[in-house]
Amino acid sequence: MSDTGITVSKKDNFSEWYVEVVQKSCLADYAPIKGCIIFREQSYAIWEKIQELFNKKIKSSGHKNVYFPMFIPESFLKKEAEHFEGFVPEVAWVTQGGETILEEKLAIRPTSETIIYSTFAKWIRSWRDLPIKINQWCNVVRWETKATKPFLRTREFLWQEGHTAHKTSEEAKKEVFDILDEYKDIMEKFLAIPVLVGIKTDNEKFAGALYTTTLEALMPDGKALQMGTSHNLGQNFAKVFNIEYVGEDKKNHKVWQTSWGISTRLIGALIMVHGDDRGLVVPPQVASVQVVIVPITYKKGDSSAIIEKSKEILENLEKNNISAVLDDRKEYTPGWKFHEWELKGIPIRIEIGPRDLKQNQITLARRDTYQKTNAKIEDTVQATKSLLDEIQENLYVTAKERLLEKITKVDDYEAFKDTLKTKGGFLKAAWCGKSSCEEKIKAETGATIRLKPFMKESSTDKCILCNEESEEIVYFARSY
Ligand SMILES: [Zn+2]
Repeated sequence: MSDTGITVSKKDNFSEWYVEVVQKSCLADYAPIKGCIIFREQSYAIWEKIQELFNKKIKSSGHKNVYFPMFIPESFLKKEAEHFEGFVPEVAWVTQGGETILEEKLAIRPTSETIIYSTFAKWIRSWRDLPIKINQWCNVVRWETKATKPFLRTREFLWQEGHTAHKTSEEAKKEVFDILDEYKDIMEKFLAIPVLVGIKTDNEKFAGALYTTTLEALMPDGKALQMGTSHNLGQNFAKVFNIEYVGEDKKNHKVWQTSWGISTRLIGALIMVHGDDRGLVVPPQVASVQVVIVPITYKKGDSSAIIEKSKEILENLEKNNISAVLDDRKEYTPGWKFHEWELKGIPIRIEIGPRDLKQNQITLARRDTYQKTNAKIEDTVQATKSLLDEIQENLYVTAKERLLEKITKVDDYEAFKDTLKTKGGFLKAAWCGKSSCEEKIKAETGATIRLKPFMKESSTDKCILCNEESEEIVYFARSY
């Protein structure tokens, strides 16, 4: 295989494989700043799809997009103590502007609760001003000291952060779970990545939240990846930022709040979950190019009829809302093109050669299974549409099977450690609810509680570590 292709097998060396796919599939490049990446065209196209999908969802439920400054005065960050403690180890600071030392240093936003809520305090006066439901698409900076990995852990990344304020606790709670559902929909229906949903433990929740709900996926190396979170902030921030409204009862009330986010991490999950030894595999629903048409032409002989037919097919696909490109470059052979489009993960390749033309047919090659089928030229649109659906479904079903295979119920600590080492994945185990047990398990095994299921699973099991009465069954895993 040439040096443009993937040289490491996903099964043999997952970590190396990932780095190769990221670079060779034009997803990202390393930046001259440690811990940062350049988002290249392939990853940014997926991000734009995610933006398009999520914008549609939140706008239809009355959210508005806005943009706040990336600088946050230190005094703002410090107002909510728990929040500040949680973020300060990773904050990058601006201390100087030009030649002038700043009187108050400015944080480059690690998240925007504090600056947004100080503004909410100005905007909100009466019950008529509520709810406020805003969202911003932006970059955030968290000065990671751990080893970084493209898309999964970088010092700067892109995300959306939604922030809302409501009159009642019930409204805020509903918002938290509505958003969680929208996230799940994007992950499962569009990115074809199955997720587990639940609540974080107090140790793992967002700094400053009442509770954090989470969506967790499983990567092929057996590690969990947190895909998104939706937080119920209660009145914590309303108290420190004094966000009050005069109710219909003419009395002052504090608002109830939520915040929620998904990030370019999702791209890392997509690469890991669906990619293979030929490169990236993009699910049709988030592919900016769903079909590539490659005319099989040779240097000798007249290929104008094939090119002509290819253009017709392209037009027809586009007319039917299938995004397609025609690769009629003369300087590359068909084989070279196949290879390149596979590397980029385009779901379907349509080939049309002299023999196909004679028989009035095309060949459809699917990226996920490499299978090839033929269709009559006049049936191209229908055949393509149903194949795109099949690919989308297959990617999800395959990932779901792998996830289910890697959820293991363990009954004692030896089995816990053993399963973690040999199989990985999610370990369902009883936990007494004490932070001390959670922390000790983390220190000894590297596994954290990824989530507590919404529906408590009743069990008579004792805590996996201390053997005391357990509160519930929770999901442990090592994670990114
Ligand atoms: Zn315990």
